[in-house]
Amino acid sequence: MVRIGIIGGSGVYGVFEPVEKKGVKTPFGKPSGDVEIGTINGVEVAFIPRHGKGHFIPPHMVNYRANIYALHMLGVERVIGVSAVGSLQEDYKPGDIVIADQYIDFTKKREYTFYDGPKVVHVSMADPFCPELRRIFIDSGRFLGYRTHERGTYVCIEGPRFSTRAESRMFRQYADIIGMTLVPEVQLARELEMCYVNVSTITDYDVWADEPVTTEEVMRVMKENEEKIKNLLQEALPKIPTERKCPCKNALKGAEI
Ligand SMILES: [Zn+2]
Repeated sequence: MVRIGIIGGSGVYGVFEPVEKKGVKTPFGKPSGDVEIGTINGVEVAFIPRHGKGHFIPPHMVNYRANIYALHMLGVERVIGVSAVGSLQEDYKPGDIVIADQYIDFTKKREYTFYDGPKVVHVSMADPFCPELRRIFIDSGRFLGYRTHERGTYVCIEGPRFSTRAESRMFRQYADIIGMTLVPEVQLARELEMCYVNVSTITDYDVWADEPVTTEEVMRVMKENEEKIKNLLQEALPKIPTERKCPCKNALKGAEI
């Protein structure tokens, strides 16, 4: 049984040596790749590359249900979702870390639930993220001296295109960061009573900022962010208690009809 799962991209590659690769088949199809099992700083984790090994699955084609269910089948209770995002606010700067506390769903055509009937389930998403995991990642980011936002609303768009300027202006009124992968990952985890934390690193400002950003600049920030994610995982993972005291484990209480 592996208790901690990580879903992420390039920032996570190389932080651990997989000792085992499992091709997991789920009732919802195949995950984005083999589930790699290994340790980070002595803590056993299962890792799924969200976009496949080599990054060939675009955000709207990721089988989010299979990814979450594969982790669930391995015994994972806590999921760390790592993502690269754009910023919608001046004060959320490229290179910053955001531990999101809310999200807005602007996706359009994904598989949002494990419960398509006859069993009907309405889970609460009022507080979408695990408070225990959030605390650990906020504290770890600050301990490492990284600019870490403990609040942030993530607007998830369908993609793969980026926003229009009008969309970006609208999102700016309600959200701080923008990405394409949080939904439905976070809500599927909750439906299985798993903890979920979003660990975002900011790559650039979204189109609302008229400053042209050079590819070189974006590449440099991304490289630095990958290093931050590695250090953050090494710092945070040993602090995650085995026993869960958060409400996540009871997410289905009162949610089933
Ligand atoms: Zn939790």
